[in-house]
Order: sequence, then C-alpha cells, then structure tokens
Amino acid sequence: MDEDRKQLAEATLAQIAREVAVCVRCMLHHSRKLAVPGEGPADAEIMFIGEGPGFHENEQGRPFVGAAGKYLEELLAKINLKRTDVFIGNVVKCRPPNNRDPLPDELAACSDYLERQIQAINPKIIVTLGRFSMARFLPNAKISDVHGQSYKIKGRLVVPMFHPAAALHQPSLKSSVERDFMHLPELISKSTEIVVIKEEKPPENTSEPTQLSLF
Ligand code: URA
Ligand code: SF4
Repeated sequence: MDEDRKQLAEATLAQIAREVAVCVRCMLHHSRKLAVPGEGPADAEIMFIGEGPGFHENEQGRPFVGAAGKYLEELLAKINLKRTDVFIGNVVKCRPPNNRDPLPDELAACSDYLERQIQAINPKIIVTLGRFSMARFLPNAKISDVHGQSYKIKGRLVVPMFHPAAALHQPSLKSSVERDFMHLPELISKSTEIVVIKEEKPPENTSEPTQLSLF
C-alpha cells in the first residue's frame, strides 16, 4: 500500500473508531463501557476477526486483551508475528451482556463498520475466529468441517478458524487451531503470488517473460 493510501486508510479507521464510540444502532450500546473498534496497521496484510468484546476489552477499549488475547499472541508468535503486525477486530464492537452470543439484529446493525474496515485495510487474508465471524463469509458452513481451509470470497482469501477462547478450553480444538495457524505463512505467500501473476505483464520488447518462481 503506498503512503497516500495508507494515510487515507488510517483516517477511515480513526473515523470508524469515533463513530462506534458513540453508536446507538443496536442494544449493545447499553452494556458498553468502551467500544472496541479494533486495532492494527491500516495496511495490515492479515486481518483477524473475532466475535465481540468481553469484560477486559470493554474496560480497555482494545480487542483481545484477556486470556483469549494472550493465547492469540502466542499463536502469532509461533508464526513470527506480533499483534502489532496484524489488524484485530470483531463482528460487534460493543460487549454483549454477560458475554452472550451476539444476536442477528446486532450483527446486522454493526456489519457496516466492519465492511468499511475491510475495504480500508484491504487485507490479503481474513482469518475469522469463531462461528459468528465465519458466518459473515460462509453462512452455511460448519466450523468443524471448514476450519483451516482457505476460501476466495469476493476476491479475498478467507480462512475460518476456531475461536482461541474455545480452543483454550478444549484440547482437541487447541491442536486444530495451532495446526491451522502454522499454515498461515504459506497462504500469505501464496496470496502474494496470485496478485503477482495477475499484475505481471511480460515486457513487450523481450520474447521471454520473466520467470516467476511460482511453480
Ligand atoms: N473475544 C473476541 O471474540 N473478541 C475480543 O475482542 C476478545 C475476546
Ligand atoms: Fe453500534 Fe456495533 Fe455497538 Fe451495536 S455493537 S451499538 S451497532 S457499534
């Protein structure tokens, strides 16, 4: 992303953060202490989308700062990434009371904010964490069937994964989520190659196009 586009994306993200801080589009604003718009570089290549703020997120206005967040950071470290390398957001920006599941009308009310974040950041890969985030892209999928696989959805690579909080409590999910994470670097480099292939035009004055190290 060039500097101008990055600045524009930063401005859009800041604008969205201001809007969600005072949003009353759904009932969740009643249980909000601080909205959690999400955070990370405006030109992040990977975007993680979780479910919604929990207790600590609501207190701090930041995503994934509790136990699930600590585990997410450990998973990122396994693939040599820090949380500041990626964008981390949620399908709802305000905490559901007692951490209940977000309701369909709340997901719908909040959807546009996430859509604008995705458009602004334009990530190479979206990793959905948990069922509600997955359902946005793969409404009929079962997470146990599709986790770790990559899907091209509206031109973007989407990889559904189990929610780290669920994995923390179930050893079998933990190994799945860890395996799925280990495949991310390969998917990221492949997604770059796909873009390169599309953009590559052989120079007109040579008969041999540049060899890409793809195959
Ligand atoms: N779980 C989520 O889904 N999102 C957060 O921000 C924190 C925990
Ligand atoms: Fe607005 Fe989303 Fe918060 Fe609902 S959850 S009040 S739609 S920001």
